[in-house]
Amino acid sequence: MFYIKDSKTKTFIDDEKISTLLQENINPDPKRVEDIIQKSLDKNRLNLEEMSYLLNCEDERLENMIFDGAKKLKEKVYGNRIVLFAPMYIGNECINDCEYCGFRVSNKEIFRNSLSIDEVKQETKALIDRGHKRLILVYGEHPMYDAKFIAKTVEAVYSVKSGHGNIRRVNINAAPQTIEGFKIIHDAGIGTFQVFQETYHEKTFKKIHPRGPKSSYRWRLYSLDRAFGAGIDDVGIGALFGMYDWKYEMMGLLSHAIHFEERFNVGPHTISFPRIEPALNTPVSERPPYIVDDKKFKKLVAILRLAVPYTGLILTAREPISIRNDLMEFGVSQIDAGSNIGVGAYSTQDKESYKKSQFVLGDQRSLDEVIKQLTDNNFLPSFCTGCYRLGRTGEHFMEFAIPGFVKRFCTPNAISTLMEYVVDYASDETKNSCLKVINNELKGIKDINMKEKLLSNLEKIKSTDQRDL
Ligand code: SAM
Ligand code: SF4
Repeated sequence: MFYIKDSKTKTFIDDEKISTLLQENINPDPKRVEDIIQKSLDKNRLNLEEMSYLLNCEDERLENMIFDGAKKLKEKVYGNRIVLFAPMYIGNECINDCEYCGFRVSNKEIFRNSLSIDEVKQETKALIDRGHKRLILVYGEHPMYDAKFIAKTVEAVYSVKSGHGNIRRVNINAAPQTIEGFKIIHDAGIGTFQVFQETYHEKTFKKIHPRGPKSSYRWRLYSLDRAFGAGIDDVGIGALFGMYDWKYEMMGLLSHAIHFEERFNVGPHTISFPRIEPALNTPVSERPPYIVDDKKFKKLVAILRLAVPYTGLILTAREPISIRNDLMEFGVSQIDAGSNIGVGAYSTQDKESYKKSQFVLGDQRSLDEVIKQLTDNNFLPSFCTGCYRLGRTGEHFMEFAIPGFVKRFCTPNAISTLMEYVVDYASDETKNSCLKVINNELKGIKDINMKEKLLSNLEKIKSTDQRDL
């Protein structure tokens, strides 16, 4: 069943259970919290009851236990790697009227445009020339952006080569599709397909999505089930924080992950947790009804990390630099960098692009600046796309399913893709900082054969045109 129309049939979001757990499990016993964190450190997904206890920890001592646990889990499982990507906005035409979004149909102040296939190629070239290897393509919801068009834009991105570079993985954030539509897009060779539920609270959902196809809560809630039905087993979920109670949204995200595990035997590849940002001529975005302040936001990320140890967490440049730096420690595994969310803004360097933008970005640094800061803080930026091209669902699955996978594959691949960035794109300052991190990481590789192979690959990258080794 991919879409339950009958409003009397329950969905996998059990409103009553979520509300009861959140109300009942207050003031948790420290020993109980400790046990829950230990379960997560043993790499087990938490259940709704356990999450409700963590969400209800208000005491500073308990909160610090959560932060320490998330930090430990992040170090234990993910090491220093942070995967980098960039968003490319393909078009901002939209027939929906989402209250919080600058692209909504009733916003007459936004400048509308859509990229042609040639323009998609120009944007791709501009991104490759800055050093990007992974993109997410973003679309408004409009008949112009049907599945065939989406597939064509993906193929256009993959077709571009520039210098030593090309885009090796294209993810999608677009409107929910039919199974047939998902199949067409799947055939174009996408990575993750993302659909954010925005809010899991049905009444709120209906209120903030008053018209257009997005006004159907259930069509959206089951959209990624249809993606699975079409053969896409790499999906990303998300909630937009600010329209309803953050604790409810967290329980919704976890219910969604559990639903996928129960139905398809695999959880979501990634979870996104954007907070509403100010958008042009969009009053709700300036004053969201359920503001999540920075302190709560940090707690939210730490609890998510603990709740779903095997799922990638994406933090976007919507957030300011200080928050991005802070949250990296708690288990964020992917960030975008050098982002511009104006349609066509990478190749035209359009200074007025905010007039075509969905909202205002908090972090407007270039990719080079982000990499410099990451490596200054001893993180290992990665452009690796190896797992995805080896076939199976994304890297987080592999990291957990195969003991030692991170050490044997992810870290060496991250090192060689960072070396490609150093040789082909980095500024002098960033180069030095990256080389320091590469040398440190090399010291940590104890397997002699693997180290020799990696050193030989690094030498090839430095002295030949060979890439993607
Ligand atoms: N139109 C498609 C849809 O709504 O699913 C996909 C693209 S939409 C531009 C991508 C996401 O942007 C939405 O799912 C929503 O969570 C997020 N978004 C919309 N308005 C926002 C705002 N003011 N601040 C932060 N994120 C926002
Ligand atoms: Fe359109 Fe998506 Fe924005 Fe809603 S969130 S108005 S569907 S672009």
